[in-house]
Amino acid sequence: MIAPYNDAMGLKLHIVPDPVLRKVAAPVAGMDKDTARFMHEMLETMYENRGIGLAAPQVGELRRVIVMDVADEQKSGPALMMANPEILWRSEERFTYNEGCLSIPGQFAEVTRPKRLRAGFYDVGGKRREIEAEDLLSSCIQHEIDHLNGVLFVDYVSKLKRDMMLKRVAKTQARAAAEAAEPGGRVF
Ligand code: ZN
Repeated sequence: MIAPYNDAMGLKLHIVPDPVLRKVAAPVAGMDKDTARFMHEMLETMYENRGIGLAAPQVGELRRVIVMDVADEQKSGPALMMANPEILWRSEERFTYNEGCLSIPGQFAEVTRPKRLRAGFYDVGGKRREIEAEDLLSSCIQHEIDHLNGVLFVDYVSKLKRDMMLKRVAKTQARAAAEAAEPGGRVF
């Protein structure tokens, strides 16, 4: 049983090494108002943070929900909101993209994945749909579905590189926290 999403809380991005990012998300039982609103708020959070994709565990919710908009700034949309997404077919042909992740800020690495795929999902209206994707959208769908299974893009690089990237994030986060703790304003 998943607790209802608390609207008043807003959505907060969870950053590595938050353990929620390593858990397996539960399927959405059905499309209701709460889930639909949650999907819209995820999309908003994704745009606010200039991401092209976001999965529910990244905002601390273990539900199988992902949102995406891979269009560039010139041609925005259409946004994709998917519940219970699954990959039905993958091509043998591969595609490599320099991936980043809102939960691993500032870090990028080339990841090679199937170039084309077909995915099934439920849309925000609860309707079953299928989509074919290639290149960036294909990589993005795979990256987001990985999140629902506790997998991160750094899992595809060497342990040495992964540890280095995670250490850099930890350092940056610690510095930001220290700066936040010392506002440096007027002290009386
Ligand atoms: Zn990600």
